[in-house]
Amino acid sequence: MKPIHLIPLANGAGPLEPGLVVLEHLAATLARTFRTPCRIRPETFDVSFALDVGRRQYYSTAILQRLERASDPDARILGVTACDLYVPVLTFVFGEAQLDGNCAVVSTARLQEEFYGMPRREELHRERLVKEAAHELGHTFGLRHCADWRCVMSSSHGVERLDVKGADFCAKCAKAVLSDGYW
Ligand SMILES: [Zn+2]
Ligand SMILES: [Zn+2]
Repeated sequence: MKPIHLIPLANGAGPLEPGLVVLEHLAATLARTFRTPCRIRPETFDVSFALDVGRRQYYSTAILQRLERASDPDARILGVTACDLYVPVLTFVFGEAQLDGNCAVVSTARLQEEFYGMPRREELHRERLVKEAAHELGHTFGLRHCADWRCVMSSSHGVERLDVKGADFCAKCAKAVLSDGYW
């Protein structure tokens, strides 16, 4: 199985979020889940080109295309950003991935309770990020959405759904990752 590389995505302004502590926790958890090395790339990737000024959001499909061109085909790439992401038909996305491809992207913009007018909850934020990252990476293994609500591949276009599902793959979904050397 290919290693996973996390690439922090920046917008050229302000301090880099989600921050190294959060990224390190994510890398360690993904390495356990996928049983493959996972490291944080030292360079950041500027996603300013994907900004829609009117929406004040970044176009995730455009980011995926650039990431693919810029990345090493021998690693699975996960871009992680604090920038809010969108695709034209939706008001926002937590993330997007290339189905059966090499690249995925996730955003922390809507994973922190602060976004919903609540006090920050760091642990919950990290849990949500882990689930969203595993979900998008699951798509890169060719997995589509799973009907089992506990499975990390079940669809979740809202934090409520993200919070009820688990962080692991169900047996059926694990098999698809398994054929790629999951265990
Ligand atoms: Zn999905
Ligand atoms: Zn499943």
